[in-house]
Amino acid sequence: MPFSNSHNLLKKNFDAEDEYPDLSTHNNHMAKVLTLELYAKLRDKLTSSGFSVDDLIQTGVDNPGHPYIMTVGCAAGDEDTYVVFKDILDKIIEDRHGGYKPTDLHKTDLNPENLQGGDDLDPNYVLSSRVRTGRSVRGFCLPPHCSRGERRAIEKLSVEALANLEGDLNGKYYALKNMTDDEQQQLIDDHFLFDKPVSPLLLASGMARDWPDGRGIWHNDNKTFLVWINEEDHLRVISMQKGGNMKEVFARFCTGLTQIETLFKSKSYEFMWNPHLGYILTCPSNLGTGLRAGVHVKLPNLGKHEKFGEVLKRLRLQKRGTGGVDTAAVGGVFDVSNADRLGFSEVELVQMVIDGVKLLIEMEKRLEKGQSIDNLIPSQK
Ligand code: ADP
Ligand code: MG
Repeated sequence: MPFSNSHNLLKKNFDAEDEYPDLSTHNNHMAKVLTLELYAKLRDKLTSSGFSVDDLIQTGVDNPGHPYIMTVGCAAGDEDTYVVFKDILDKIIEDRHGGYKPTDLHKTDLNPENLQGGDDLDPNYVLSSRVRTGRSVRGFCLPPHCSRGERRAIEKLSVEALANLEGDLNGKYYALKNMTDDEQQQLIDDHFLFDKPVSPLLLASGMARDWPDGRGIWHNDNKTFLVWINEEDHLRVISMQKGGNMKEVFARFCTGLTQIETLFKSKSYEFMWNPHLGYILTCPSNLGTGLRAGVHVKLPNLGKHEKFGEVLKRLRLQKRGTGGVDTAAVGGVFDVSNADRLGFSEVELVQMVIDGVKLLIEMEKRLEKGQSIDNLIPSQK
């Protein structure tokens, strides 16, 4: 598996046909929309920092598909990627984000007061609740393309900013390179820290270069508010806790995120954002809110039911295993989260998770008693 993208100018000695990737066995959004004509049109273009279409699509070429999710098949190198390679990315975004058009405008709502309910997901089923997003600092390349210096600069300015968080958000930074293997593994096993660079999706995009340099985790004392630095995005901001109080998790998420944005602004840094794409992140699947609100939920009966996949789809939810995106569910416990990121506000997405998970639990209870769930099957949201 390649560990980085390659900037090879001699490829210009070959025609587009000679360079065009073999996508014949592929099933990802990039492979669905890329054509030889489009590739030929884009292959000589570079973003302001020197990112090419070959860099953009490499992860999707090397990963034809994924066993659990439909992947995007590309990763951005900088903010300009979404402008220079608009011709392919607009199509991918439309395909991935339910028909989102180049003229559509994104909406933001980080006011937890606008949420209906959500403090009472049944803790007999919901083991933990979590909301995460990503943020990118304008003016720096994104992880697939950033230099060592840029990465270290992001780490430094993030740690300086986060040091000003107060009250129960007060915390400390732990650089990966200062952790023992056991400490790191414990944080991963407890679901607080990103995995080691084992995911082929990450590796092929180049974002694991120089690992573990510049990477780390910042968290408050009770590990309910965490910030990952320089994994897939510059920043991943996470609020989580045991049990089913998603409202409290979201409220902490909004407060912390707003404070972080203010702290960055006070140092004259802003996050990549525009009215059409919302927050700009490395993976086009995370554009918009970047928000994934999810629960680890016990659904041993529904999880085996033939309609489970269809029900999730209709509720606009997705499932993963509890060890992260590359894992399968074990013991009937699933990570169930919103499938959308773009075109819906943060509040709308968390609401979908709250309402959807309530219904899933109701179905699970029916199946436990040997009853039918036919009259609970929802219509498409
Ligand atoms: P992300 O979307 O944050 O990148 P991943 O699927 O890569 O999510 O998982 C990252 C880590 O977060 C994993 O260790 C996973 O178990 C943990 N995680 C995700 N959702 C939850 C949840 N609801 N409760 C506890 N841990 C979670
Ligand atoms: Mg991840």
